[in-house]
Parts: sequence; structure tokens; C-alpha cells
Amino acid sequence: MAEFDTDLFVIGGGSGGVRAARIAALHGARVMIAEEYRMGGTCVIRGCVPKKLLVYASHIHHEIEDAAGFGWTIPQVSFDWPTLIANKDKEIARLEAAYTANVEKAGARVVKTRAEFEDAHTLKLASGERVRSKYVLIATGGAPNHGAPIPGIEHVISSNEAFHLPSLPRRILIQGGGYIALEFACIFAGFGSDVTVVYRGDNVLRGFDDDVRAHVRSEMEKEGITILTGCTVKSIDKHGKDFTSHLSNGSSIGSDRVMFAIGRHPNVANLGLEKAGVGINPGNGGIAVDGFSRSSVPHIYAIGDVTHRLNLTPVAIREGHAFADTVFGKRQVHVDHANVPTAVFCQPEVGTVGLTETQARAQFTHVDIYKTTFRPMKATISGRDTRMLMKLIVDATSDRVVGCHIVGDGAAEMVQLIGIAVKMKATKADFDATMALHPTAAEELVTMHNPTARHVRQAAE
Ligand code: FAD
Ligand code: NDP
Repeated sequence: MAEFDTDLFVIGGGSGGVRAARIAALHGARVMIAEEYRMGGTCVIRGCVPKKLLVYASHIHHEIEDAAGFGWTIPQVSFDWPTLIANKDKEIARLEAAYTANVEKAGARVVKTRAEFEDAHTLKLASGERVRSKYVLIATGGAPNHGAPIPGIEHVISSNEAFHLPSLPRRILIQGGGYIALEFACIFAGFGSDVTVVYRGDNVLRGFDDDVRAHVRSEMEKEGITILTGCTVKSIDKHGKDFTSHLSNGSSIGSDRVMFAIGRHPNVANLGLEKAGVGINPGNGGIAVDGFSRSSVPHIYAIGDVTHRLNLTPVAIREGHAFADTVFGKRQVHVDHANVPTAVFCQPEVGTVGLTETQARAQFTHVDIYKTTFRPMKATISGRDTRMLMKLIVDATSDRVVGCHIVGDGAAEMVQLIGIAVKMKATKADFDATMALHPTAAEELVTMHNPTARHVRQAAE
């Protein structure tokens, strides 16, 4: 009898796990992958993909409103939430099947079950079956975290439930000021819901460039979203189908839905990690790993959100691929987490790569800022009250562009491409040498010739 039933056992069929299983199988490894819910994981089933479909749907109201300025008369429109949700669910089911088929086509065996460690090489499946594996990859992702329990917390939904609401909320309170809170606030506002965002700090999107934060807030407020800062939800009462949320500032907000988007925690509970000897990173609560995603146990690796490093789908996929190449492909691959482009799909959306102004000024002695805000051409005759923000951060000593921040339609698409230039260490002179493409919004990125601010840090006395 072989010592091991399989070469690799992957726990979790999400973005990272599926990629790792597929590539390891293509490298010739015997692979099993366990998924307790639906193949595709958070991104496909209740994250990026359904979210972006809802963003597209919600954004259509802008097109309809803008049409009149361009000469179109559009008869009375109506929107049907159940139709959107049903169509979204159909697409998600198609993707789920495609994910399963692709990983099976590569030769991996998919088991639709929960898996937990019994010891460092043995996995116990919900069916009772035990599998001994030479290597194990933990790719269990994360889950919504509602914070410390408060009275009425049982009435609170997370993004998981928001994707399946039977009807569109008339009034919704969303607590949080990060990616999910802002994306859903704009989704619901686009469909006509009355939206209040409650955020504990002084402005939303902490960690993003301060100009981006101010711009996003102002644009969201112009769309009619109420943003309350410096407060939290302390308790929630239910009256019939409605709720009253009591805030730390003494005020109360009525709504028919209350959603929290106050972060996610890595899925490490009840996995049997202690039986396997796998250590947790005390700093972030995720599985502790080295630069090759190797845990404290040499044959056990962890990738993606369960490591709580950079919780984005392309990062989980890259880490999964690098793991498979390193362990089964005879090629050591290290994932570089620097300069990862990211977008917040609020409306207008944010695209960002590299350093914020604050980070750059802490890191470099000479920093030049190139910044512009302008009314996009489309908004001129549509009459829409919106402005776009573009900002480049330059290390003035090397002339390298070390950060790019955009708020406006198409920001995510633009930043994906600018990300290549930033990764290649392009200089401001390279940007200036690039011919503008007219008429676009993106041309501003190569036509901002004069710095709007120059910062020189004096040497410490
Ligand atoms: P996951 O995709 O979460 O997969 C983990 C899988 O493991 C799950 O399917 C789970 O059911 C399974 N599992 C857990 N425990 C077990 C067990 N013991 N046994 C068997 N199976 C188990 N990222 C972006 O880059 N862009 C976006 O636009 C974006 N939008 C998002 C929107 C929302 C609402 C959310 C919540 C997240 C979004 N993200 C986005 C983040 C992205 O979804 C995650 O970073 C990504 O899915 C992480 O992949 P993963 O493989 O680490 O984990
Ligand atoms: P984020 O970390 O983005 O935001 C969490 C928000 O909740 C912050 O505003 C935070 O405030 C606030 N918060 C945290 N704890 C509390 C608390 N106890 N009480 C009140 N407020 C609190 O998390 P999300 O849940 O929005 O999303 C999780 C992750 O998923 C993201 O970080 C991202 O990695 C990923 N994601 C990516 C998307 C994309 O790429 N477009 C979209 C959606 C999710 P503070 O800032 O003060 O800490």
C-alpha cells in the first residue's frame, strides 16, 4: 500500500485552491480538492463576480438619466430586483460548473465536502472518509466578521445575504467604510434605495490616498448617500419588518435592512490546525506563512484570504499558482506583493496602484504630486454633476512614478494598465514621452506637466 493516498490535498475550492489544484495536477501530482459549499469560492459565488454584475446593473440608472442630454427620450423605466438576482444566479451556476470541470479536466479529484485535519498528514472528510496526503494546501478563505456582539446583531446581514435578498431594500443602513460597504452602498443607491453609511473613523477608505477618500465621499454624497462618520451602531431594534439602529452619537436611523461590512476574518476555526501543528500569525489571525506560503509545518502550505495578507482574488490565484510551481513544478516561485493594483467598485469607481501621497512622503525626501480634477466630457452635455480625480505621485529624486490614483468611470481598467508601467519602474519622463490618446479621460495621465505640489523633507536636525 502506498504511504499516501494522494500527493496534494487542497482544502477549499475558491480562487486560490482551484488554481493550485489545477496547476499541481498538470505538473503530474495526484490531487484531491475539497469544497464544503460551492466550487469557485467567495469571488465567484458571493464576491467579485456577483458584485460586479450588480454594479453593472445599478450603473445603468446613470445611463438612463444621462440619455436626455444626448437627445434620447426614454419612456418610464422600471427595475425588477428578482429578475436581476435570478439572472445573476444563473451566471454564477454556469461559472461554478466551469470551475469544477476545469479542475477535473486537469486530473484533480473534487470532493464536495468539508475537510479537517486529523493529524499533519491526515484529512477527515464530513463523510467520515480519511485521506492521507503528502502535502496539504489550506485555501479556506475568509468570512464576514460582525465584530463584538451588540443587542440586535441577529438582525444584521452581511454581503453573503445581500446577494440573495428577496426584495430591494427601501432604506438600508450599512456599517463600514471599506470596499464592501461602499460598493454595496452605491449598488443599492443606484437602484433607488435610501442609503446611510455609518463609519467609525473620520473618513471612509482608510489606507487609500487622502484625496481619493475626500473625492469618493463627496461624489457619493452627491448621489444622495448619507455618510455618517465618527460613530458606530450600538444596538438594533426590530419593529415588524423594520429596524431602528441606535448609534454611538445618540441618533437613531430607521431602515428595512441593516448590513455590516466591517471586515472579514480568515477561516481557521475548527480546521484541526492544532492537531496538525500549524501556527497562526498573531498579528492578523491568519495562518502564518513564509514568502513561499509555507506554514510552520514544512509540508503544509496556506494561500489566499486564510493567510490574511492581501485579500484579493488575483493575489490568491498568484499564490496558488506559485505554490504549485514551487512544490510540484521544480521551479521556486516567490509572489511579489508590492504594487498590486486594486479597485473599489463604488460609483464612480476607484483605481489605485502604488504608494499614497502620505506613504511616499514618509519614504522619499523629494516627492512631486501631479493632480487634476475635471468634469468628464460625457458629463458636459448630460449635465451630470460629477468630477473625476487623477493623481500621480513621483519620487522626484529618481523621477519614478510610485503611485497612481484615479476616481471616475473606467478607473479600474486604467489602473490595471498603469500598474504595468509602475511595476516596470516607469519615470514621469516616460509618461510625458507617451503621446496622449484623444479624446479620453486617461490622456490626463500623460499631459499633467507641472507638479501641483512639491514636497521636500528637511534632514532631521
Ligand atoms: P475563497 O475564495 O474564500 O475560497 C475558500 C473556499 O474554501 C470557500 O469556497 C469555502 O467554502 C471553502 N472552505 C472553507 N473551509 C473549508 C473546509 N474546512 N473544507 C472544505 N472547504 C472549505 N477581490 C478582488 O480582487 N476583486 C473584487 O472585486 C472583489 N470583490 C469582493 C466582493 C465581496 C463581497 C467579497 C466578500 C470579496 C471580494 N473580493 C474581491 C475578495 C476575493 O473574493 C477574495 O480575496 C478571494 O475569493 C480569496 O480567494 P481564496 O481562494 O483565498 O478563498
Ligand atoms: P475592509 O477592511 O475593506 O473595511 C472594513 C471597514 O470596517 C473599515 O472601514 C473599518 O474601519 C471598519 N471596521 C472594522 N472593524 C470595525 C468595528 N468593529 N466597528 C465598526 N467598523 C469597523 O473590509 P470589507 O469587509 O469591506 O472587505 C473585506 C476585504 O475583502 C477587503 O479588505 C478586500 O481585501 C476584499 N474586497 C475587495 C474588493 C475589491 O477588490 N473591489 C471588494 C470587496 C472586498 P477602519 O478603516 O477604521 O479600520
